[in-house]
Amino acid sequence: MTTRTPTAARFIDTHAHLESEQFDGRQNLVIQTALDAGVQKIIAIGCTWGSSQKSLYLAKQHENVFAAVGIHPNYCSTATDHDWERILAMLEHPKVVALGETGLDRYWDYAPFELQQKYFDRHLRTSQKTGLPFIVHMRQCEQEILEMLQKARQRGPLRGVMHSFTGDSVTASNCLDLGMYISFAGMVTFKKNDALREVAAMIPANRILLETDCPYLSPHPYRSKRPNHPAMIVHTAQCVADVRGVSLEEIGIQSTQNACDLFKRLGGNDDNTKSGA
Ligand SMILES: [Zn+2]
Repeated sequence: MTTRTPTAARFIDTHAHLESEQFDGRQNLVIQTALDAGVQKIIAIGCTWGSSQKSLYLAKQHENVFAAVGIHPNYCSTATDHDWERILAMLEHPKVVALGETGLDRYWDYAPFELQQKYFDRHLRTSQKTGLPFIVHMRQCEQEILEMLQKARQRGPLRGVMHSFTGDSVTASNCLDLGMYISFAGMVTFKKNDALREVAAMIPANRILLETDCPYLSPHPYRSKRPNHPAMIVHTAQCVADVRGVSLEEIGIQSTQNACDLFKRLGGNDDNTKSGA
């Protein structure tokens, strides 16, 4: 597995598809490699009832792994109401830290858009009812996402994150105004993505999160290496630190604090260090 020289910096990978079959049989190695690289905690993401169940299983097996449970927009046409009920039943478990991933996706067009909206609405309402944060996937439907978030915001405060954010600065500002956190994955490191790095530079320090979205999208300079895995978060963190003019340690402390603030069931920051920013 590819890692960089050990660093004192500490991170939380807030979005990892650890339940992906690409990790089958080697989750222990992947998790240990991440711990060795300074990744203190990993949120394993659910996309269907089955993968949510697998994520929770991994969370129960590993102290440093936590689970998000939900129905991904690309999978909602295969989801049943019974699946949704079983996901709701999982929310009681203390290692379930979030709902998701949810959101909307016009790029793949795997599920009717109205059905995607129905499931996104269910996640939003459940978040507002339970206080558990939600994780948003947004692909080629920024306007529709914003409209639904604005509608939900009229009902009450929003606790959520725009995951693997690739939108522009206007969309980012709109999301921030609604109370959302913004999370960056490997794409921010890609050479041609100067515009995205500018967005990463402008996010307020207390609203920025980091993730790998593994096994997809390995960061530069390991773009061709697959699968991506949680230890690779260091490269994304270094890129974000550089554009923000802070140290790797600083972005680690700040983003870890933010993750603990948003995903309250993660518990406190293990290092007990507070950022001065
Ligand atoms: Zn994802």
